[in-house]
Amino acid sequence: MMGEIQVLVEHRLGELRDITFEMLTKACELSEKTSSKVVSIILGKNVKEKAEKLSKYSDEVLVVDDDRLEYYNSDVYQMTLEKIVKERKPWLLMIAHTSYGIELAPSLAVSLNAPIVTDCIDLNVEDGKLMVIRQVYGGKLYAKIHVKKTDPAILTIRQGVVQPKELEKHGKINVLKPSIDLEAVKKKFIEYVAPAVGEVDITSADVIVAIGRGIKDKSNIPLAEELARLLGGVLACSRPIVDKGWLPQDRQVGSSGKTVKPKLYIALGISGAFQHILGMKNSQLIIAINKDPNAPIFNVSHYGVVEDLFKVVPTLIEKIKELKKQAT
Ligand SMILES: Cc1cc2nc3c(=O)[nH]c(=O)nc-3n(C[C@H](O)[C@H](O)[C@H](O)COP(=O)(O)OP(=O)(O)OC[C@H]3O[C@@H](n4cnc5c(N)ncnc54)[C@H](O)[C@@H]3O)c2cc1C
Repeated sequence: MMGEIQVLVEHRLGELRDITFEMLTKACELSEKTSSKVVSIILGKNVKEKAEKLSKYSDEVLVVDDDRLEYYNSDVYQMTLEKIVKERKPWLLMIAHTSYGIELAPSLAVSLNAPIVTDCIDLNVEDGKLMVIRQVYGGKLYAKIHVKKTDPAILTIRQGVVQPKELEKHGKINVLKPSIDLEAVKKKFIEYVAPAVGEVDITSADVIVAIGRGIKDKSNIPLAEELARLLGGVLACSRPIVDKGWLPQDRQVGSSGKTVKPKLYIALGISGAFQHILGMKNSQLIIAINKDPNAPIFNVSHYGVVEDLFKVVPTLIEKIKELKKQAT
């Protein structure tokens, strides 16, 4: 399984995204086991200077710098990648499991007749075999998949599952000029629409009190709001709270919501589904209050309170008020 591991670099609005370094970290781990070369591929306009940074994480950086690649267009990306893969024959191509990757990877796999596993949370080479871990049944079970055909195998990698490491490689940078058949490009980039920033930006808050289905009723939200206010924080939530229309979408934490990294994250009545965990696990201090001792949220919490939140939160509020009074 020697040869090349290729990683498609993901960047948006001039920024290299974290998932790129997560994939490159994983690729480097595998390359040591398989004596493979790690090759990052960056497509875009004026991206040559980003290649310098990528060279620390790769043995080679392939740069395709073209005006037509200024914005992501899956047709152009696919044509360009197809040419690179056919010519260089990697055994593995890693693509981010993002809105870009989810669109691009399956279509590329069909055109290259390559096997694909999407939304991988881990991968390894065991006894010379490529093994991939995926979560199934909404994260309740793990499936270990042996990918037999690797010429190449295409994997999309979930964001936030690999801890990126600082690497000190000195990969060479190669600029490619693959020809793009404009006639075959059916899609046209029109406009980049950034997600609206609501009146409260939970991504920049130091303290977040997040509520889940355990809050039970909309009328109980002011209780959590008061706790957030006393701690100088903001209120956020899990997805069901948004689905019920109790809080706006910009308060949702998780894979289809916001990613937050506050100093303090208090989870009230949130079970800890992986889609939620993805958005908050890098918080500095996580405290969970849940009456179910087996709730998965406790696996990522620094402190856990197994109790009814309607007993704990009012007591906490009283205690904070008392301490504040003493301090003045
Ligand atoms: C494609 C997709 C994307 C998704 N994206 C997201 C996302 O971005 N963010 C997200 O949050 N979810 C997301 N989800 C939903 C996710 O799978 C879970 O369904 C959701 O996170 C569960 O929310 P919850 O923890 O509030 O509710 P539940 O899982 O119902 O948990 C409620 C918890 O409250 C506890 N509880 C109940 N009463 C009390 C009480 N009185 N005191 C203390 N604890 C109590 C219970 O023990 C339970 O653990 C997504 C799902 C899919 C399929």
